[in-house]
Amino acid sequence: MTSPMIYLDYNSSTPVDPLVLNAITPFFKENFGNPSSQGHTWGWTADSAVQKSRTQIAKLLNCDAKEIFFTSGATESNNWALFGTFHHFLKNKEKIHIISCPIEHNSVLNTIKYLESLGAEVDWIQPNAEGIIEAKEVENKIKPHTRLISLMWVNNEIGSINPIHEIAELAHRNKIYFHSDGTQAVGKLPVDLQTDKIDMMSFSGHKIYGPKGIGVLFKRKKEPYVQIDPFMIGGGQESGERSGTLNVPGIVGIGEACRMISDNFQAEVKHYRDLSKLLLENLKSVFPELKLNGPGLDSRSPMNLSITFPEDCGTDLSSRLIGLGVSSGSACSTGKIASSHVLKGIGLTPEQAARTLRISIGRMTTEADIMKAVSIFRTLKK
Ligand code: PMP
Repeated sequence: MTSPMIYLDYNSSTPVDPLVLNAITPFFKENFGNPSSQGHTWGWTADSAVQKSRTQIAKLLNCDAKEIFFTSGATESNNWALFGTFHHFLKNKEKIHIISCPIEHNSVLNTIKYLESLGAEVDWIQPNAEGIIEAKEVENKIKPHTRLISLMWVNNEIGSINPIHEIAELAHRNKIYFHSDGTQAVGKLPVDLQTDKIDMMSFSGHKIYGPKGIGVLFKRKKEPYVQIDPFMIGGGQESGERSGTLNVPGIVGIGEACRMISDNFQAEVKHYRDLSKLLLENLKSVFPELKLNGPGLDSRSPMNLSITFPEDCGTDLSSRLIGLGVSSGSACSTGKIASSHVLKGIGLTPEQAARTLRISIGRMTTEADIMKAVSIFRTLKK
């Protein structure tokens, strides 16, 4: 009998929770209607499911349901926030200065680089060794024509947390739009959009036990009313701001996923923290020289560990960990090792990145999984 595989890559994706799957299933079957069909019961059923989801999401984020827009995922939400802001100011023939950071997710990083090629002026702030950007450094970069600050809430590789509250206050005082990629924050940190004055926030269903191919862009409608251009233009869905037939099963799924987080947030975060601590302590006893990248356990994402293993473990670690699903800090392409831009951005050498793994804990992880994983990690010891 083969022993079960242990998945510790929940930063990358999560399984659909069985309760989410139950909620979705009728929308693939009898409730297949198009919410834009306002002349019959199939359309009304779909539309009311979409509105219910918006309400569930708004409750989790403490915002208005009208501020929730459905997209195909965080990549699209990030693209929309960035392109939409750029096009809005470009139309008004205004100069556009953007502030961001080189360890953002590629859907922000590469989009801003593209906007730079279209004429935006960009300042990239270097993070500190823990991967954090201080509000003071953002303040130093503000110019009269700064239109947008885009900084992620939680880093997907090293679990570092930016001081979003302070940065949002700063942006507000200066009347600059503040976009934050919240993909790794929702479900792991308290998110309260009344307290944290983020203007636009993106996230994806599949990181929170919902389906893939569905995401959200929160767009503030009061103080300020965020005005950006649409990214998807067509039939005028989502109040004309994001066209395309709504992905009703996905929308129902992300709503139910948010409902589950609202109902069980404290216990779930405790579960993540307890198991992260258990894993780190056990790994330290096997590899006393290991290095935790990013902040310490108390001030990082509760479910993420980024670990650089000692030199004598060698490289190519993830493929040597038979039966374990974790993520590697570097990728080998055409014979060359390419470090992740995040590890490079916090100062790791390519060789250190090649000895680094991202290990992330999820809802379904058990203490027994952690202990089994430790025994698999032990095989790296020469
Ligand atoms: N931002 C962050 C921080 C992420 O971790 C991810 C997914 N790896 C994305 C954006 C993109 O999400 P998706 O692929 O679902 O569009």
